[in-house]
Amino acid sequence: MSLESKYNLKSPGVKRLMREAVELANPTEEYFATPLEDNLFEWHFTVRGPSATEFEGGYYHGRILLPSQYPMQPPNIILLTPNGRFEVNKKICLSISGHHPETWQPSWSIRTALLALIAFMPTPSAGTIGSLDYTPDERRILALKSKNWECTTCGKIAEKLENAGKIDAQPELTQEESTLIKQIALKAEEDANRKMVSSEPKIENVTSDEENTLRQRINPTVNTEPVINVETTVQRSNSDKLWTAAIWILITIIVLLIIRRIFLS
Ligand SMILES: [Zn+2]
Repeated sequence: MSLESKYNLKSPGVKRLMREAVELANPTEEYFATPLEDNLFEWHFTVRGPSATEFEGGYYHGRILLPSQYPMQPPNIILLTPNGRFEVNKKICLSISGHHPETWQPSWSIRTALLALIAFMPTPSAGTIGSLDYTPDERRILALKSKNWECTTCGKIAEKLENAGKIDAQPELTQEESTLIKQIALKAEEDANRKMVSSEPKIENVTSDEENTLRQRINPTVNTEPVINVETTVQRSNSDKLWTAAIWILITIIVLLIIRRIFLS
């Protein structure tokens, strides 16, 4: 059965994924992604390890799982090739992936997610979900091994990128994309720090979706800051309340002691 006859072509998610599949049909030097033959909502991808890092020369393959609400909800990324930076067979934590739906923007795409993943690889893991802290040497060995790695579905993966770029010139990164990718890497480090606060307030997915849609309607340019601000404000107001209560209790005790002293003397 062809993808066209299997899905409701009027569904925004299906339309969007069909369009992305066409846009990503030709591998670039850096990445290649394509939907599974029988499932438009699962893609397999290959990214090239970023040059001048311990991942240089490596080819990393994985799955992209798209929620039925895509693009309103972010894709999940799962790496399959051992790489020393991310655990394999585990949903990994980019601030734009499924662990952080509140920062996802519907205008972002699978291409954005892959570029972010590549940009993210050389950043310190800082204990985020699904991160590994292998030494550069261990990662270099894995990069070398990855050339012969095979996916049970797609076969040898290195070949898919090796001849790319020569066939089709890679689309240049837009200014917006490169700014976005920098923000993503940075934000994830903030997220790692934030995770240490156990009482991290959760924002309901529904609300954040509405926020995203709204924000996109108001301002189509990418801006991820407001969401973070909301969270820190919530955190701050909670601890502020505690402090205020503590200060009032202290003041009451002092006043009582003073009154007691006046009446006793
Ligand atoms: Zn595969």
